[in-house]
Amino acid sequence: MDSIQTYFYRAQDMRGDELVILFHKGEVLLRNDEFLWPSKVLEELDKAWYPLLLVGEFKARRIVALNLPHDWVQEDFTVARASPRTLLLRHAFDDFTAVGRANQLINWYDSHRFCGSCGANTLAHKNDRALVCTACNATYYPRINPCIIVLVTKGEQFLLARHNRGNASYSSCLAGFMEVGETPEETVKREVMEEVGIEVDNIRYIKSQSWPFPSQLMLGFFADYKAGELCVDGIEIAEARWYSKEDLPEMPSAGISVAGQLIALFLQGLNETKNA
Ligand SMILES: [Zn+2]
Repeated sequence: MDSIQTYFYRAQDMRGDELVILFHKGEVLLRNDEFLWPSKVLEELDKAWYPLLLVGEFKARRIVALNLPHDWVQEDFTVARASPRTLLLRHAFDDFTAVGRANQLINWYDSHRFCGSCGANTLAHKNDRALVCTACNATYYPRINPCIIVLVTKGEQFLLARHNRGNASYSSCLAGFMEVGETPEETVKREVMEEVGIEVDNIRYIKSQSWPFPSQLMLGFFADYKAGELCVDGIEIAEARWYSKEDLPEMPSAGISVAGQLIALFLQGLNETKNA
């Protein structure tokens, strides 16, 4: 079988021109600040740790990921390490895509070694990127969790909130996970009401982004303010207020997140309207 048909590599499946992303305890191992390793690095590592997970083809090179066991020690293997989040801040998002996908696959693989239905071991699916229970045949595919992220606007003003989570220093768009049975537009309405107590309408889908911390799909929207007074719960959201292009807080970068891109698009739209 051609190894591209399998999403789980063994050492003998390697062609030799693959690039490898190495994870250990949730961090990415770096060499000369670079996260892609030539496949010969695997010769220095214990073969018992396979399989490698196929990440995909990026810039015409096949990339695989390997999660080193927790008790691996770094002797004779001089490397630096960084969290996937840190790498996102250092690299443009396009370059980061491979690490993001690898991070999601590693997390999925690690958390599905046993069947959620019966508790037996799982094994790699023969053809699909999936794990199959050895006892009851339940099949586990990598799961993506859809979230909405929304820039609420009122004329030339836009709403940003500062989260309590992680003592965030910057303000951003409102966001939240979709609940079972919701459409994304319903999630937008519910999240905005829950987080800041206002009604919105004219909800427009703008763009999306895979957000691999650990496995969100961010669906980005604009929405218009409709009614109500801002009222934050103080638990999830520390502060929320209307900003304008003359009054900008510390914000997420458009090079990194869809939140930053939504804000940039809105500001660009204001400029274009003014110059038209
Ligand atoms: Zn099972």
